[in-house]
Amino acid sequence: MDPRNLRIKGERLKNSLEEMAKIGGTPGGGVQRLALSDEDRRARDLFLSWLREIDLEIMIDEMGNIFGKRAGKNNNLPPVLSGSHIDSQPKGGRFDGILGVMGALEGLRVIHENRIETPRPVMIVDWTNEEGTRFSPAMLSSGVWTGKLERDWAYGRMDIQGKKFGEELERIGYRGKQPAKRWPIHAYYELHIEQGPILEKKGKIIGIPKGINGLYWYDVYVEGKANQVGPTPMEGRSDALCAAAEMILKVNKLPAKMGENMVATVGEIHNFPNSRNIIPGQVHFTVDIRSWDDDLAIRAWKDVEKDFERIAKKRGCPLRIDKTWSVPHVTFAEKLVKRAAEIAKNLGYSRHPMVSGAGHDASYVSQIAPTAMIFVPSIDGRSHVEVEDTKWEDCEAGGNVLLHCLLQSASEE
Ligand SMILES: [Zn+2]
Repeated sequence: MDPRNLRIKGERLKNSLEEMAKIGGTPGGGVQRLALSDEDRRARDLFLSWLREIDLEIMIDEMGNIFGKRAGKNNNLPPVLSGSHIDSQPKGGRFDGILGVMGALEGLRVIHENRIETPRPVMIVDWTNEEGTRFSPAMLSSGVWTGKLERDWAYGRMDIQGKKFGEELERIGYRGKQPAKRWPIHAYYELHIEQGPILEKKGKIIGIPKGINGLYWYDVYVEGKANQVGPTPMEGRSDALCAAAEMILKVNKLPAKMGENMVATVGEIHNFPNSRNIIPGQVHFTVDIRSWDDDLAIRAWKDVEKDFERIAKKRGCPLRIDKTWSVPHVTFAEKLVKRAAEIAKNLGYSRHPMVSGAGHDASYVSQIAPTAMIFVPSIDGRSHVEVEDTKWEDCEAGGNVLLHCLLQSASEE
């Protein structure tokens, strides 16, 4: 069979996604498969059984990243790699991450059953803890694998209950032996839902991002003075929650103040002791700033930081700020971006050039290997929520573009 005529089986991709959605499935129709939870383990077990069905050589590294390799004619040539993540947000959706893993798997199934011999090996990957919701930061294990983060630092990351990443990895039985260390990769492709409203609005099927926005994370701790609410007069209070409230609104207004071209969000807040009759004594909240323009993001942070200091002083609530994590914007490999667009065109899918507003493992991988992503529309632009949805035919379209990206890259001598 002429490989150009190959297509994935949309129905089989749908079934795989539905099987995976049962693991950690929530009553609201989403999934909750937090990194290194029992659900993550069950999904990994199922994933491994599917890799074995098509005779892939399995490797699990010391970060729990799972790789499946299909040999090429020349295994000295660096492989083509594709995948995404199996973990989800709390009450997250059925497509985020898992589509990229199941899409790559479907591609490999088609290559396997048609006995296609590629010059280069083709590999699939599930990156551990992409979401960063249980163990921050996000993209932790692609970060370690690419050498951007330290393994032992990652092992020590703690969830809200004080459980360590390394121990939980051990507990679910996925701490592999292989060093989590990059090796040469010829090309990396990641299929993903858009997680935004643009493709749907434009009526396009395939999104071709030129890169990923820069991402800046901060943790802010506001120190107040806890006290009985009744006897303490309003005057002279140091209410950490009121100070935080003012700061949060400053974050919300930041993009408009900076002339747009960025987004800024406070998504997580912890109020202590969180009692109705105690003046809040401490508040911890997070700030997330994203922009294609890294200088703008950093300038915006400096600007809002000054506001924070002013508010802290005014309200008598000292501040502590941690610069938790940052990843500058990345530009994908032009050749692969063009290839994805060209393939989409040849397959008859409408397409749209764009930028990824969300971070992905592709962000770290693109720093060490030529990388591109393929987006499919998110219904209503919703993601990281239970109602997250994508049409099955769009999943199939994305899978077909991915399949041919893999075949073309794997054919390059
Ligand atoms: Zn994702």
